[in-house]
Amino acid sequence: VVSGVANTAGDISRRAWQVAARVCDPELPGITIDELGVLREVAIVDGTVEVRITPTYSGCPAIETIGADIARALDHAGIAPARVRTVRQPAWTSDWMTPSARAKLAAMGIAPPPPCARAGTPPACPACGSADTGELARFGSTACKALWRCRRCGEPFDRFKCH
Ligand SMILES: [Zn+2]
Repeated sequence: VVSGVANTAGDISRRAWQVAARVCDPELPGITIDELGVLREVAIVDGTVEVRITPTYSGCPAIETIGADIARALDHAGIAPARVRTVRQPAWTSDWMTPSARAKLAAMGIAPPPPCARAGTPPACPACGSADTGELARFGSTACKALWRCRRCGEPFDRFKCH
C-alpha cells in the first residue's frame, strides 16, 4: 500500500501546476501558459489551491479565458477547492518566456518579443529576417499583438507585445 505522501500539500500543488501548465493561450494555440511565463505560482491558502497567473499584456482580454480554462482543468482533475488569481505585480516580462515559446511564435510567423532590455528594438521580419521593419498599428490580429511590416520584402506580420 502506497500511502502517506499522496495528499500532502506539496503533492497537490505539484499536480495543480501540472494541470494548469497544459492550458494554452487561446490566442496562441499550441503555446502553453507555462511556456509563456503566464503561470507564476501555485500556493495553498487556507486549504484552497490557488493558481496565480500574470497577463502578458496588461489589457490582454485572453487572461479571463485562461483563468476559466485553468479552473475547468483543475475541476476535471478533481483538484478542489481551487481558485485562480490574476497577479499583476510584478508585471510580466518577456524574459519569462521559454525558448520553446519563442520558437513556436516564430514558426507561427509572429515576431517574438525581445528581452525587455531591448524593448525599443524593431523585430526582425519572420519571413526574410530583415531588421528593416516598422510598426503599422498598435493592435494586430489581437490586442496582445501589434501589426508590423517588413520594408524589405513588404510582408506584414504580428509582433507579440512586450508589455
Ligand atoms: Zn521581410
